[in-house]
Amino acid sequence: MTEARKFQAIKGVRDILPPESSLWNRVEQVAREVMATFDFHEIRLPVFEETELFARSVGTSTDIVGKEMYTFSDADESSISLRPEATASVVRAYIEHGMQTLPGDVKLYYMGPMFRRERPQKGRYRQFYQIGAEVLTPAPKDVPDNFSRDAGIDADVIEMVLVFIERCGLVGHALYINSIGCRNCRPKYVELLRAELTKLKDKLGPDSQRRIETNPLRVLDSKVESEQAVIEALPRIGDHLCEACREHFKMLQAMLFMRQIAYEVNWRLVRGLDYYMRTTFEITAPGLGAQNAICGGGRYDGLVELLGGPPTKGIGFALGTDRLILALQEAGKGEAARPLDAYVAWMGASTYAVAVRVARTLRDAGFSVEMPHEEMKFKKSLGLAARLGARFAVILGDNEVAAGTCTVKRMADGTQQTIPERDLAGHLRA
Ligand code: AMP
Repeated sequence: MTEARKFQAIKGVRDILPPESSLWNRVEQVAREVMATFDFHEIRLPVFEETELFARSVGTSTDIVGKEMYTFSDADESSISLRPEATASVVRAYIEHGMQTLPGDVKLYYMGPMFRRERPQKGRYRQFYQIGAEVLTPAPKDVPDNFSRDAGIDADVIEMVLVFIERCGLVGHALYINSIGCRNCRPKYVELLRAELTKLKDKLGPDSQRRIETNPLRVLDSKVESEQAVIEALPRIGDHLCEACREHFKMLQAMLFMRQIAYEVNWRLVRGLDYYMRTTFEITAPGLGAQNAICGGGRYDGLVELLGGPPTKGIGFALGTDRLILALQEAGKGEAARPLDAYVAWMGASTYAVAVRVARTLRDAGFSVEMPHEEMKFKKSLGLAARLGARFAVILGDNEVAAGTCTVKRMADGTQQTIPERDLAGHLRA
């Protein structure tokens, strides 16, 4: 016989237990309701894809693709990765299913686990969950940019996330926005930044030094205390945007103002993924320490084409569900255990069948019901009902069964009433 062995969840992944799972359900339910009111529809995506999809979209120089993906060879030697994010999959699906022929903007949302081999800490896991949405808009080449429309879509998406997190009960969060330019202006800015950073190399730590070559924009993300003064003095992208990006960013701010959405421009907000352009945004929440970003998003015009589709504009966000839940718990908005409506306490050999019938009637009426499946003295049964937090105990003994009634005990104050069995559901509802 094999020896017994205990197992534990792998580092960086975790179980979500009740009652916390009720909070997850509530948050996901609110997300579905709010996104439906903005006319978004759910897309359910696979959790693994060809590695190449992420390499092309997220970018090989990003930490996500460079060192954090769970990649393995399939039986046919093809390289597969667990998804580190879902925008690439949404875009792949949009192209694969020819969704550009659908009327209007294509508005999709998703929720589910993502996988990144990051260093685990509070609010940072290797399997974590995101709720996200994307808007994809066909952009024929001969039609000029419509900045107010694009910015209007950006603002709508931001408005939707804010409605969602506010309806979840979060307060004290902050919205940061930035423009990171486009194919025309960003490369010039990146070169300028690289040149400046190279001059200041000695003042930077090893991570930032490495990024000067691989991804200089990411240096702006640095949280290393000793680098902050250096970074604050670097050239800012806002001063190097092309005319079109400046116009778009101006419109975005007007669109947020129109919606009475408070924001702050943060020129250092660059996001870690290659496909973003122009609008980027982030929402932070209080009570989370270093991992305080609960949502990140941005515009990715051009990504659809990069993945072999027709010219298309895109904007989306991903919200870290784990962190939103943590923030709600920190704010005392965690979910209490779902209450048990009724506990059916029965005694007497012939009574069990009636208890089963009563439980079924109450469950059909939508009540949560628990009952013992072995005979128990009433004292013990009622003690258990109290510990389970039941609102009512339905007591069935030989006398009740003979009379076709139940004794209903309201657990909060101990009052008891005799009720005909057929009136039970109505009585509990009242
Ligand atoms: P990103 O896909 O990197 O833009 O991240 C979007 C959001 O997902 C972040 O703002 C976080 O809230 C969340 N997130 C990203 N990585 C993790 C992680 N390893 N653990 C928990 N949440 C994460």
